[in-house]
Amino acid sequence: DPIAQLQDVQVSYDIHGGLLGRTTHRVHAVEHVSFDILAGETFSLVGESGCGKSTIARAITGLVPHEGQITVAGHSVPHDGLSAGPGLRRDVQMVFQDPAAALNPRKKVGELVAEPLVIHRIGTASERRAHVRDLFNRVGLSADQIDRYPHEFSGGQRQRICIARALALQPKLIIADESVSALDVSVQARVLELLAELKAEFGISYLFISHDMAVVENISDRIAVMYLGQIVEMGTRAQIFGNP
Ligand code: ADP
Ligand code: ADP
Repeated sequence: DPIAQLQDVQVSYDIHGGLLGRTTHRVHAVEHVSFDILAGETFSLVGESGCGKSTIARAITGLVPHEGQITVAGHSVPHDGLSAGPGLRRDVQMVFQDPAAALNPRKKVGELVAEPLVIHRIGTASERRAHVRDLFNRVGLSADQIDRYPHEFSGGQRQRICIARALALQPKLIIADESVSALDVSVQARVLELLAELKAEFGISYLFISHDMAVVENISDRIAVMYLGQIVEMGTRAQIFGNP
C-alpha cells in the first residue's frame, strides 16, 4: 500500500526582478512528477543541486502551492501551499541538512525534542519528559543529556536529536532532506544505520533526498533520478545501480 502518492505534480516559483521589482518570470522547479512511496519503503530522490528535490519535499508537506495530486497517509495535500492541517503536519516530519540551524541554541535539547508534543498538545509534562527520555535512548543518546544545550553535542549527535524530534509524533513518513550530507563519512554511516533500524522497528517510510549517489545506494529500496525538475529514471536499487 502506498503511504504517499504524487500524480503529475508541478511546482513553479515566481521570481520578481528588474530595477523596480516589477518584472516577473516563472521558474518551473518541478514538472510532471509522479511516484508512489510504499509503506515501509525508503524511496530516494537523487540529482544535482537545483533539480527540484527540496521543492518536492515542500509540496508534500504543503508548504508550496502545487498542481496535480498529492496524497500522504490518507491526507490530500491542499494545493494552496498554506492550509495543511494538523493531521498532515503530524504524519509527515522532516529532517534537514544542518542540525545546528534546526535547533534553537537557547533551548535545552530535551525541550526541543518535546516541542512537537507541546505544539500538538500531547500528554502531560511528565509524560512528555518520559517519552523524550525514551526517544533519546532510541536514537543512541543518553537520557542524562536532555538538559544540555545543542552546542554541547557533535554534529552527528545533533542530527540524532533532530531525528528524535521528528520521531516524537510517531510520523508515518519522514522526509530526510540531505540529512547526512554535512556529516563526516563515518558519522554518516552511523546515522544511516539508525534510520534503517527505525524503519525496521516502527515501519516508518522515508523519502530520502540526496545529491550523493553513494549514500543513496546504501539506503534506498527504490530511487528516482531527477534532472531539471523531472524524473528521468526510476527503479529499484538493483535496477538503478545494477547490482543485487
Ligand atoms: P534541489 O533540492 O534539487 O537542490 P530545489 O527544489 O531547491 O532543488 O530547486 C529547484 C529549482 O527551484 C531551482 O531552479 C531553484 O533555484 C528554484 N527555487 C527553489 N526554491 C526557490 C524559491 N523559494 N524561490 C524561487 N526559486 C526557487
Ligand atoms: P506496541 O504495539 O509494541 O506497544 P507501540 O506502537 O505502542 O508498539 O510502540 C512502542 C513504543 O515505541 C512506544 O514507546 C512508542 O512511543 C514507540 N513508537 C511507536 N511507533 C513509533 C514511531 N513511529 N516513532 C517513534 N516512536 C514510536
